[in-house]
Amino acid sequence: MVEECVFCALIRDRSRVPYWVAESERALAFLDLHPIRVGHTLVVPKAHARDLTDVSAEDWRAMGELARLVAGRLRARGGTTGENLFLASGPGSDQTVFHVHLHILPRRADDAFGLRDWWERRAASPSPAELEALAVRLRR
Ligand SMILES: [Zn+2]
Repeated sequence: MVEECVFCALIRDRSRVPYWVAESERALAFLDLHPIRVGHTLVVPKAHARDLTDVSAEDWRAMGELARLVAGRLRARGGTTGENLFLASGPGSDQTVFHVHLHILPRRADDAFGLRDWWERRAASPSPAELEALAVRLRR
């Protein structure tokens, strides 16, 4: 028996999504059951897609539009002043549920989340030649 996708099961039976916050024809947004920040929300397409390379352009656009709406509501009604979007896509990314989902992490300037420090510790400084070579390879 093929194991059913957990997000497809939620979308099919909306009684299993008590903490939904917004939806459109193509996408659904609901609170993460294990939030990293208060208001941590997931946005999923209603049609199954494995990851970023698998989702249709229409569903990706719908996810972006719903994320934009939720971010505005979080700022207006949730007391946040910004957000980070996070997407784990593909087996090399620590994706755990293989139905593409966008995390909205609400932020405040004084929340001590530490993302900037994390980023700066990992940022490399490739040479212009290395950057040019990679850009040319990706353009082809
Ligand atoms: Zn699915």
